[in-house]
Amino acid sequence: MTLRPRPEILDIHPYVPGVSAIPGANRAVKLSSNEGAFGPPPSVASALAALATQLHRYPDGGAARLRAAIGARFGLDPERIVCGAGSDDLIFLLCHIYGGPLPEGGSTELVMTEHGFSIYQIAGRLAGCSVVKTPERRRTADVDAILAAVTPATRMVFVANPNNPTGTFLPAAETARLRHGLPPYVLLVLDAAYAEYVDRPDYEPGAALVDASDNTVMTRTFSKMFGLGGLRLGWAYAPPAIVENLNRVRSPFNVSLSAHDAGIAALAEPGWVERSRAHNAAERARVTRSLEQSGIGITPSEANFVLADLTTQARVDTADAHLRARGVIVRRVGGYGLPTCLRITIGTAEENDRLLDALTGFAAASP
Ligand SMILES: *Cc1c(COP(=O)(O)O)cnc(C)c1O
Repeated sequence: MTLRPRPEILDIHPYVPGVSAIPGANRAVKLSSNEGAFGPPPSVASALAALATQLHRYPDGGAARLRAAIGARFGLDPERIVCGAGSDDLIFLLCHIYGGPLPEGGSTELVMTEHGFSIYQIAGRLAGCSVVKTPERRRTADVDAILAAVTPATRMVFVANPNNPTGTFLPAAETARLRHGLPPYVLLVLDAAYAEYVDRPDYEPGAALVDASDNTVMTRTFSKMFGLGGLRLGWAYAPPAIVENLNRVRSPFNVSLSAHDAGIAALAEPGWVERSRAHNAAERARVTRSLEQSGIGITPSEANFVLADLTTQARVDTADAHLRARGVIVRRVGGYGLPTCLRITIGTAEENDRLLDALTGFAAASP
């Protein structure tokens, strides 16, 4: 007998990260991974420099100071916060804890939407869940379709709000209707990776629903607006029993010393969130307007990226090649069931200028 993985592992397609460089281009504009336009907050550099002589020390496995800082910043109880090596870490753990085989035989089911974030599918399959995808309406999660997909085997529903790669969101009334329509044995995970960018009175990232139930989790990340994707830092806000379960199975030092102190420093950077949000809102509106004027359809986005519809896959191919030849890297999203679209991260004003020059030029030349 030869060594073999569990058969379902071979059905998992590896996550496809955004391309980060173009061979031969030395000043490429990377708009492919939704990294914050301003990079890491300046306060992080000095926090990391101070650690240089301390790297032999293990971090605080309980991340107490970081959880206190997150709690203070977002008005949440630190006892209900669990930190991870990116929010992906916590998503995988939740799937292992609440997914897997059913005791009576068969698999638990994980429900996500047709253009939902791909990590849910990878983590669910790894845990042994069967993954059920529900149709969206206007590229937005459809609460009725999700509720209709629930069976006695369903254990988890994952909704990114706003969603990646569509950028669309569910208002608070809809996430509440989803929670109230789900049976009590189903965990609802609201992935609010882009919450800091949303500026709408009808948005609620999930903390209120976590407080109001014992089966809802909100996940957050430092990888987007806080500019720390390279350090891997995320967190979950969860009811006490779910916090206990996460702490039972997480790797004991899943947040590195540098991620821990960088996170605290990033939260303390004065005005960072306000400045980043205002920049993003203005530039997202400018990019949207300019592309729409060129005849390119844009899905309304609440996040730091837009989804551009080029109408055919062939046109995506030529547009993507045209952008790369001009040193601009965006994201193909065929793997998300959106083969006619490109996802474009909102960058600095200069980066967005280069994107717009290249893509409006393309649209003018090949309408
Ligand atoms: C980027 C992103 C994350 C964050 O992943 P990290 O592991 O925290 O870097 C989570 N969910 C969605 C929807 C994302 O787009």
